[in-house]
Amino acid sequence: MNKKNLYSTQEEKVLKFWQENKIFEKSIDSRPESNPYVFYDGPPFATGLPHYGHILSSVTKDLFPRYQTMRGKRVRRRWGWDCHGLPIETLVEKELDVSGKKEIETKGIGAFNQKACSMVLSYVKQWKEMIDRIGRWVEFDNSYKTMDSTYMESVWWVLKTLWDKNLVYEGRKVLMYCPRCETPVSNAEISMDNSYRDVTEDSVTVKLKVIDPDKYGLPDNTYFLAWTTTPWTLPANVALAVGADIEYALVKDGVGYLVLAKDTIVKVNKNLKVQKVFAGKDLEGVRYEPLYQIEKVKNSKDKAWYVATADFVNTQEGTGIVHTAVIYGEDDFNLGQRLSLPQIPLLNSSGKYNQDAPEFLKNKYIKDAEGDIVDDLKKRGLLFEIKPYTHSYPFCWRCGSPLIYNAISAWFVDIQSQKKRIIELNEKINWYPENLKHGRFLNILKDAPDWNISRNRYWATPLPFFRCDNPKCKEVTCIGSLAELKEKAKNYDDIYKSDKIEKVDLHRPYIDDIVLKCPKCGGDARRIPEVIDCWVESASMPFAEWHYPFENKKEFESRFPGQFIGEYIAQTRAWFYYMHVLSVLLFDSISFENVVSTGTILSEKGEKLSKSKKNYPDPWIIIDSYGADSLRFYLMNSVVMQSENLSLSEVDLKDIYSKVINTGYNIANYYKIYEDDYGKGKSLASKNILDKWIISRLQNTLIQVTRYLDSYNTVKSSREIKLFIEDFSTWWLRRSRDRFKSQSSDSQDAFSTLEYCLKNLSFLLAPFAPFLAEHIFQAVKSEDDSESVHLANWPVVDKGKVDKNIEDSMVKARKIVEMGHSVRAKEGIRVRQPLSSVSWNIDLKGDSEDLIPVILNELNVLEHKEGSGKKIDNLSELKVSLDINITDELREKGDVREFVRAIQNARKKEGHKPDDKVELKVESSEPLSKFLDKNKEEITIASGLSGIGKIDKIEESLDVNLSFQKAKFSLGKNI
Ligand SMILES: [Zn+2]
Ligand SMILES: [Zn+2]
Repeated sequence: MNKKNLYSTQEEKVLKFWQENKIFEKSIDSRPESNPYVFYDGPPFATGLPHYGHILSSVTKDLFPRYQTMRGKRVRRRWGWDCHGLPIETLVEKELDVSGKKEIETKGIGAFNQKACSMVLSYVKQWKEMIDRIGRWVEFDNSYKTMDSTYMESVWWVLKTLWDKNLVYEGRKVLMYCPRCETPVSNAEISMDNSYRDVTEDSVTVKLKVIDPDKYGLPDNTYFLAWTTTPWTLPANVALAVGADIEYALVKDGVGYLVLAKDTIVKVNKNLKVQKVFAGKDLEGVRYEPLYQIEKVKNSKDKAWYVATADFVNTQEGTGIVHTAVIYGEDDFNLGQRLSLPQIPLLNSSGKYNQDAPEFLKNKYIKDAEGDIVDDLKKRGLLFEIKPYTHSYPFCWRCGSPLIYNAISAWFVDIQSQKKRIIELNEKINWYPENLKHGRFLNILKDAPDWNISRNRYWATPLPFFRCDNPKCKEVTCIGSLAELKEKAKNYDDIYKSDKIEKVDLHRPYIDDIVLKCPKCGGDARRIPEVIDCWVESASMPFAEWHYPFENKKEFESRFPGQFIGEYIAQTRAWFYYMHVLSVLLFDSISFENVVSTGTILSEKGEKLSKSKKNYPDPWIIIDSYGADSLRFYLMNSVVMQSENLSLSEVDLKDIYSKVINTGYNIANYYKIYEDDYGKGKSLASKNILDKWIISRLQNTLIQVTRYLDSYNTVKSSREIKLFIEDFSTWWLRRSRDRFKSQSSDSQDAFSTLEYCLKNLSFLLAPFAPFLAEHIFQAVKSEDDSESVHLANWPVVDKGKVDKNIEDSMVKARKIVEMGHSVRAKEGIRVRQPLSSVSWNIDLKGDSEDLIPVILNELNVLEHKEGSGKKIDNLSELKVSLDINITDELREKGDVREFVRAIQNARKKEGHKPDDKVELKVESSEPLSKFLDKNKEEITIASGLSGIGKIDKIEESLDVNLSFQKAKFSLGKNI
């Protein structure tokens, strides 16, 4: 068990209060349905435990809804789970001890998916605990799930709608591909989790022999030099690419000749003598002997193994001649498409060479075969050079295997034709921070490729595309609903026993057994095996959670577009992007009006948080030690809310804990000490300048916090609250403590001001530190107030209470005090030693009469003396001088204060209440006895004594250092 902080226990009490009294439910029901603030919750994967990133987004998603609720809005908050896709499939593979598609299919897709379904929500309990404990209010148990058949049917509707708009097409495309997971990995997935790592591998430069060199004016035995970092692609070579305007040189090398870009000769670093120079375009069409005679390439109707020009060629790396394997590179594929080079795959789906590959490579995994290829080329004299090369290379974010480029057949949503509108509508979105709108997000929109929506996997919504078996027809039909499926299927009743969507499992393998009647030829059409990219699912959340358009049409339409979403910065490429794109394509509308993008939380040392490295403190320990409010406030006050990276700092968290949370509790406790002594809920009519000042500060804080929260800026709004708490505690309360002790009209004013400021502070704190806010509110609330601070309305600014002049004068007064204290510190005079006078050269204007006593009190100086010379108004020219001459009289006053303080401390330590009268016992000696006789009355009153007894010897005495001796004393029994 972690040692729980006092406030952590206090927070748990508040949680219980909320739960028992259904405060969350009331906070929704008490706001009119006609006045909604629409929040969309992006669904997380439930496949791991919640971490700081989830806590961060959960706090963001809690803060604005709480605030808007207080502004009178009804804020529905429903949790969602992202249930499909690779994360859960990877776990299932481990659990079932299978790897790769073949093994999964041998085991059975049914068993595989059943396992996925049973495992996908296995961390829900831990999530609920964390979400509850950090004070996030959300309908957790009533969550939507992307694996619900209603949800999946809505996703089918998406596909069908896009299909009918002619925005879906089948194509081959080079994609990053994981040979182990046997599926393409999207760009979003790669950049989201920073899948690139620096690796050092062998790069090779190979020689390709020119055929019929004399035809091109080249000598016999001329070779092209081509360079590659992926030797496994060499058997698939079908062309060489050169830059049309790059200069190439023919050089002599031993008995033969080489061709390479002139600029790269130096790098190749051989004593190569240039024989001849020509432009790249002069090499166009030159034929060469392939490194490997691939039969299918040789027999293809498409021409192969010749030089082509391409504009992606440069001379920065390699030889300026680029080896082109059409299927296994992005530039290669585009060039291959343009020139119609043969597209012959040499790999199977798991990254092993297939039966069309050279004999010695068949069935070998590409990475294991690279050594064999190098050896083979060396033996045949075709290897020019082999050299280690360090580059940044992508790895699968799930299984860690190196990704490869692979041209595979896939289904796409046409983004290019809609791009203009997608970019146009971004103008209507309010981004926080603002620079993302025309920076990162716009760039993503501009560069966006067509959306590959197919995945060659199992546990996801199946793509509802059915292809006719008839080789002469091959018509593809897209199904958009269960009803349409039933209508067009030949064997619906064999597979499904119900027409009700809730009772039908749309997952594989059941749907794979459906046979449709081809609308064109009447033949059998079967589903293509791919499933849908899970980003289509999470982007469908605004309507799919409602099972729109099959149900809840009104509910969805009245809640679209959403007003607020918030996630971390990587979602600009993922969820933010897909949400936006999908709603533009489907509804010609934006999907969300305001979006807050947070940064990423890193370890204290600035590294990515890593479970295996354990480079961050367990969030539970942090919550137990400082309370959830401290963590919430710390995050909301940090740069992570401006979309920057935050290195988690326990020191900074502690600072928030002590300056905001702890101070807040302390002020509330102070209030409780006096609440029975004074009247509650009295109107404010204080003439005391301290009161007028703090109330003006409160109003200004309210103005600022409201303004910043309305513009989604939690950093500045929380900073205003923090500054107010500091002023409230270190100045107002500090200077008002004595006022509470003497029961006068001024002390009632002090109490009423404390009450008023505390209550309003609880409102301001409510979105940020909901537990502390509740604690304070419960302490100060009156009978007319709402049951909970979170059911209250956001305070309205009382402009009449703003007094700019007093705030200005108080800044000056505090500066005088600060400088006075620093004079004392420099001279080594403790604060309890009264001094005779102080002077300053600044004009406090109309407030000087009220402020001078405040300053004198704080500085413990008896008198203010007008300084000579001109009064200034500029703080930077302020001069403060203290009379530091300590007379006997002043010294004695200092001793009295010192003694009183020592007695007060002892009273506190021994647990006496403020009203308890105690007896002081001292060891009598001549000077002390005299001192006490003289100051008896003052000491007795100031320290609440019943009397002073002098005795010879005290057994367990306390000490106090007086100027003339060290005095020993103890406190007597309570009388
Ligand atoms: Zn993988
Ligand atoms: Zn057909």
